[in-house]
Amino acid sequence: MEPATLSNLIDGKPAAPAGGAYLDVFEPATGKVYARCPDSDSRDVEAAVAAAERAAPGWAALPAGERARHLHRLAGAIEARLDELAREESRDSGKPVTLARSVDIPRAIANLRFFAEAITQWPGESHADARAVNVTLRQPLGVVGCISPWNLPLYLFTWKIAPALAAGNAVVAKPSEVTPFTAFRLSQLAIECGMPPGVLNIVHGLGPKVGQAIVEHPKIKAVSFTGSTRTGAAIASAAAKQFKKVSLEMGGKNPAIVFADAYLSDVNLDTIVRSGFSNQGEICLCGSRLLVEHSIYDDFKRRYLGKVESLRVGDPNDPASDLGALVSQPHVEKVMGCIERARQEGGKILTGGEAISVPGRCANGWFIAPTVIEGLPQDCATNREEIFGPVVTLLPFDCEDEAVAIANGTDYGLAASLWTRDLARAQRVAERIEFGIVWVNCWMLRDLRTPFGGVKHSGMGREGGVDALRFFTEPKNVCIAR
Ligand code: NAD
Repeated sequence: MEPATLSNLIDGKPAAPAGGAYLDVFEPATGKVYARCPDSDSRDVEAAVAAAERAAPGWAALPAGERARHLHRLAGAIEARLDELAREESRDSGKPVTLARSVDIPRAIANLRFFAEAITQWPGESHADARAVNVTLRQPLGVVGCISPWNLPLYLFTWKIAPALAAGNAVVAKPSEVTPFTAFRLSQLAIECGMPPGVLNIVHGLGPKVGQAIVEHPKIKAVSFTGSTRTGAAIASAAAKQFKKVSLEMGGKNPAIVFADAYLSDVNLDTIVRSGFSNQGEICLCGSRLLVEHSIYDDFKRRYLGKVESLRVGDPNDPASDLGALVSQPHVEKVMGCIERARQEGGKILTGGEAISVPGRCANGWFIAPTVIEGLPQDCATNREEIFGPVVTLLPFDCEDEAVAIANGTDYGLAASLWTRDLARAQRVAERIEFGIVWVNCWMLRDLRTPFGGVKHSGMGREGGVDALRFFTEPKNVCIAR
């Protein structure tokens, strides 16, 4: 079958890239090219910004309820095609279709609906005293940029676009060139739903071409980015020259800390396993360092390995597959390189450690066995640097202080999970560890009203709830004398 040709969305219409060039898009499960995505450049970004500029005042002037109606309509269009989009997301990214159907696509719908409702419920601020009444306006910024990664494609793309649009901005958005398909589908649905032209523009292509053009464009007032820490640093420095507002969600090296008194029911143990290997470990929130109190270490390890070894790696289309394919050949090489480095650092591979061949249609796909490693010092590269694959290291600890020190012993600070029945301890440890998100006896349990983001090299700013609406607006205080 001929690869499908994707297009940009500019000014409410599908648009071919100005330069006429395209990038191959691969199906990770088969290693085959199945689509071509625009290899756009600064000319396409320029056209998108011009369209957004024309659309922004009218969009901002709409009553919030009207903007919300547009977002609800888009959410409804996604919902009506949930199964189809889940299959497309799975084909594009390698994730099991069951995961795309239960997490990725429902969350994209929830993002749009959540911010549609949030904008109609957002209370204003005013401060009064005997001399004056201060009213703080929260005005949209105008044209904003949204740049997202490949691991949760439509989920993270809509997580940015929804609050930006709800707050009254026009958007120029760039999905990852590795997984562009559902963003392309979103552009088709936006046209079908009658989204006003120019309000949402989607420009496909490479980071250093399209992404950088978005970040450097003087008419783009803010950039919301999710991706690697290295790209985030480049964006922060480019944006600083224009004093541009940026929100950065970056990498992680998250600890899951299991205390001896943890309630390790089968369900909880399954969650701990999922926290390491869900989406092939390609979630910024995955707990890739599993800290276990010494007194239960051997018993925990036996039960944990039993569960990890029963995970099924296979065709993402097969509902029985727990793990699918990794997103790309270069990413497989990176993860395999990290496993090799762990070996050289003296790590003992307890299970996995190799690429897997899945017979049949997936024979040339990019699969890696869930891998568990022990025996590494806390300060080695394996335990400090993000791997972003199905690789978990086990680290024993003796006391609370040591657990805190190990947890904090990395430059990252995105998310942690704590497993204990002692809630006073959970509170204490949560306060001492340097992470933006701490889950106690759970993992990835999300309430979209809460601030989402990391500290240290994991992030700058917060997404979610009111934080996202604040990011996409500028406060202006109007002081009216009595
Ligand atoms: P990446 O940084 O390579 O790319 C992210 C996006 O930035 C892509 O759209 C890419 O094209 C674009 N980009 C690349 N160079 C650019 C540049 N110079 N200027 C502007 N844009 C540019 O990241 P990735 O490999 O797609 O995603 C994996 C990373 O994302 C991991 O590090 C993961 O931890 C992180 N991530 C973080 C979160 C979070 O919420 N903190 C969520 C998901 C993923």
